[in-house]
Amino acid sequence: MMQPGYRIILIALLVVGQQVAAEPPPDTITQFSTIDALLSGVYDGQFGFSQLLQYGNWGIGTFDRLDGEMMILEGRIFQIRSDGKACHPPTEDTTPFASVVQFKPDKRFRVESPLSLEELQQRIDQEAPDLNSFCAVRIDGTFSQIKTRSVPPQNKPYPPLVEVTKNQPEFLFENVEGVLFGFRCPSYVKGINVTGYHLHFLTRNEKQGGHLLSATLKEGWVDLDNCHRFNMILPAGDENFMNADLKKDRTEELEKVEK
Ligand code: ZN
Repeated sequence: MMQPGYRIILIALLVVGQQVAAEPPPDTITQFSTIDALLSGVYDGQFGFSQLLQYGNWGIGTFDRLDGEMMILEGRIFQIRSDGKACHPPTEDTTPFASVVQFKPDKRFRVESPLSLEELQQRIDQEAPDLNSFCAVRIDGTFSQIKTRSVPPQNKPYPPLVEVTKNQPEFLFENVEGVLFGFRCPSYVKGINVTGYHLHFLTRNEKQGGHLLSATLKEGWVDLDNCHRFNMILPAGDENFMNADLKKDRTEELEKVEK
């Protein structure tokens, strides 16, 4: 028979153990599949939302069959479809490519006068100067101008991403409040993720957004989370992933796709 005192300690340990297991690892970007797999047309969803949220509460990505742009905001998943409108995807939907983080900013600064996207990125580089590590970036503010895009769902045989984005729907917003979220990745992850900045946008009213093409931030707050751990999860046993040509240098394709 266990002493009542021991039983309490054992229960306490179990509870603590569960909490530790439930909390995603800190300062860790977890990435699902690779950017080159996506560029080559591996669009079938492989990962469920509950799996994504196990590794973080903020993130970006796309959806099964490339059906729009993903934004994860405080554990809530938004799908910005090819009409530019944001909705909550069905919980059973999946993603072929996404990156997430348990966002805990360690730096915050205010922007009070207008900055172009390039100037904003330079300012972030000053505040988070370790370009050889990862950085998760959140920008809340008013944008005097912001341009985004999304992509329509694809049918098999899937065309490469560079073909899809040739006719991408683009959306221009003026004087709009919203949040940008995404990552700055070091240059050595070429082929694995987007090097440099990759940001997605959602309007403050959570109704529109997309993959960021250009912006001018009028004023707002920037939160940065320096991340020095990188976790990769690849599709298990997916034939399209297995047969994708991931030897090819897709730098030029990525350049075209991101703009
Ligand atoms: Zn994107």
